[in-house]
Amino acid sequence: MTAQDFTRRMESAVAQAAAAGFTGLLVAPGPDLTYFTGYRPTAITERLTLLVLDTNRDPHLVVPTLERPDVAAAPGYSVITTTDWADGTDPYRPVTRLLDPAGHYAISDSAWAMHLLGLQAALPRSRYTSMTEGLPMLRAVKDPDEVARLEAAGAAADAAYEQIKEVGFAGRTERQVGNDLARFLRAHGHSQVDFTVVGSGPNGANPHHEMGDRVITEGDMVVLDFGGFQDGYGSDTTRTVHVGPPTSLERDVFDVVRAAQQAAFDSVRPGVACQEIDRAARKVITNAGYGEYFIHRTGHGIGLTTHEPPYMVEGETRRMAPGMCFSIEPGVYLPGRFGVRIEDIVTVTESAGRRLNNTSHELYVVA
Ligand code: ZN
Ligand code: ZN
Ligand code: ZN
Repeated sequence: MTAQDFTRRMESAVAQAAAAGFTGLLVAPGPDLTYFTGYRPTAITERLTLLVLDTNRDPHLVVPTLERPDVAAAPGYSVITTTDWADGTDPYRPVTRLLDPAGHYAISDSAWAMHLLGLQAALPRSRYTSMTEGLPMLRAVKDPDEVARLEAAGAAADAAYEQIKEVGFAGRTERQVGNDLARFLRAHGHSQVDFTVVGSGPNGANPHHEMGDRVITEGDMVVLDFGGFQDGYGSDTTRTVHVGPPTSLERDVFDVVRAAQQAAFDSVRPGVACQEIDRAARKVITNAGYGEYFIHRTGHGIGLTTHEPPYMVEGETRRMAPGMCFSIEPGVYLPGRFGVRIEDIVTVTESAGRRLNNTSHELYVVA
């Protein structure tokens, strides 16, 4: 990423904000600030750091004096005007000087409430809307560099899956298998592991079950949902395996989820509303009689965070565009029995979808 790349992102955001009726954007530390400047404060503290983007001036970053050397090392520093404020002074003064007192700003979701309240107190006529509410698609369309990083993170997750399915499950706890998964993700290049869901038997029917001390046994379905970060970008993939030969019910449910995932993938195309992905998956599962057991949306965007717009959910009428990256992860959860989920990250090309996870969708029998 060059300074020009950051300039392009900031200019595009200002244009999108203006088109949506905003005076500008207020960008706080977190994924938005990383996206626009490459700057990641080493510790996000109570001291105010805020980037002001609007049509009236060049990008302007307000930072604590003691953090200025860190900012100066950020890739986007050369294309930003930086002002610092010292401990003991009012941090909102340098920001409010840049703002329209009656302006309407989109502000990062990651901004601290105390800072938003401080700005509101200083400029009582100003208004604020959360970034994901006001400009939900701001980071949704990835540039080729971002898609390449997501693809590399996906390939590392795939390599971790190829390893985990050979370790042996029966007689080990979910936690032991999960720890192996985390180790494999790191070995394949992840700098951070965020979740390693190992949902065995009845635990698999709880989509948010992380992992516990249940001992995995012959006959268990096991949902493996794992991911983290590599090179700043996220991975997130799910495969469901079975310990020993599956029953016909287990195979039936698995085949339904697999068909639903494929149907959703086949409906990815620029110009199609995001909710159509959810509908395609849900239709297959409902027609098979398991509709009431598919208890979550079909997918979420991914990039600098693992859950971000666009969401693949009923009611999301925004349309897919080339470069968007999101998960497709239908599931069926039979309470007290077992769950099945299959998840791939997918990117939208000029004409269709392309998977960034490419391990087999066959029901794999583990030992
Ligand atoms: Zn079984
Ligand atoms: Zn997942
Ligand atoms: Zn996911």
